[in-house]
Amino acid sequence: MYYNDLGKTGKKVSAIGLGCEHLDGKPYGQVKEVVDAAVENGINIFDVFMPGREVRENIAKALGERREKVMIQGHIGSTDVHQQYDISRELPVVKKYYEEILSIFGYIDFGMMFYIDSEKDYKDVFETEFIDYVLRLKEKGDIRHIGFSSHNPITAAKVIRTGVPEMMMFSINPAFDMLPSEEDIFDHIETDMGVKLYRGLDPKRAELYRICSANQVGITVMKSLGGGKLISEKHTPFAKPLTVPQCIHYALSRPSVASVMTGAQTREEVLAAVGYFDLDESEKDYSQVIATMKNDFKGNCVYCSHCLPCPSEIDIAAVNKFLDIARLTPDQVPPSVRSHYHSLLHRGNECIECRSCEERCPFGVAVVENMKEAEKIFE
Ligand code: SF4
Ligand code: SF4
Repeated sequence: MYYNDLGKTGKKVSAIGLGCEHLDGKPYGQVKEVVDAAVENGINIFDVFMPGREVRENIAKALGERREKVMIQGHIGSTDVHQQYDISRELPVVKKYYEEILSIFGYIDFGMMFYIDSEKDYKDVFETEFIDYVLRLKEKGDIRHIGFSSHNPITAAKVIRTGVPEMMMFSINPAFDMLPSEEDIFDHIETDMGVKLYRGLDPKRAELYRICSANQVGITVMKSLGGGKLISEKHTPFAKPLTVPQCIHYALSRPSVASVMTGAQTREEVLAAVGYFDLDESEKDYSQVIATMKNDFKGNCVYCSHCLPCPSEIDIAAVNKFLDIARLTPDQVPPSVRSHYHSLLHRGNECIECRSCEERCPFGVAVVENMKEAEKIFE
């Protein structure tokens, strides 16, 4: 396992986390098996968005004395008022469910404002008593950090610009990254994943990752497999399915991503997820699969590292990533991004312009130009 900084929270989270949704409705013995496997393998962040008391209690009981070893994402506004997963912004209802999760886990590490996708969601959270409640939870120490979850890059960027959240849970996979930001992923996930709409990487999604980096908002990832469609022969929008490690690798390669929450119902599924760390780079390389889309990726670095090796040992994807973030505000490059660039062992000024990377890049990225621009912008 390796651990990443989660934005400005100061916390280091495991690169693979546990999404606990699939433990809902399962007997305690099965919940314990999965929780044990996760903790034994170094997973230290769990997403517990489910509002049901039983599954929350089962997870807490399975953790037992190990509660402090694991950080919990608990979602504010996640309810089951209609006998199924639901969202509420009505304060008495929100409080009832949140006080319950607090009493079960003692405190919550990441208090997530639940599901802020639309302008209405934004207003219902930030222009009502909801936000006061969230801020009070933080002041009292009931939640240690404020986060939120979203599937919409435009609304998510607006939430980040309030300066309130320190982290975000966002749906990330290569198919969603190509879906125009005006589209609702849930209109497509059950059908064709919006494949007819794809026009290369959606600029608003790419911009969101850069805004997160510039504001030091860490990302945890949901839906990295696109609800299983990306790994399905029948449903993949690409010429062939991606593998689970390729999907995890794609998500972990996005700027600001700290952890990919993977669902598991058995010990074996936990072991399969953490098996990602034993694979070599070629087994995680997603570039050849997503390059099969006949759309305009041209010139966009997707941070896949397919262009390596570089004779100057430059981490080309990392340089491109920092450059993309800096391009957002070239006259005011965030100090954290500048410092990340300078902490690279080899930087753009070491490029000898051999162009072997450009020959290998499936997306036609002008690497040499980027190396020069990186030096100019960061020096
Ligand atoms: S330059 Fe091309 S091959 Fe290299 S990381 Fe970017 S997209 Fe991948
Ligand atoms: S062109 Fe520059 S960045 Fe690309 S492989 Fe050669 S030295 Fe490395």
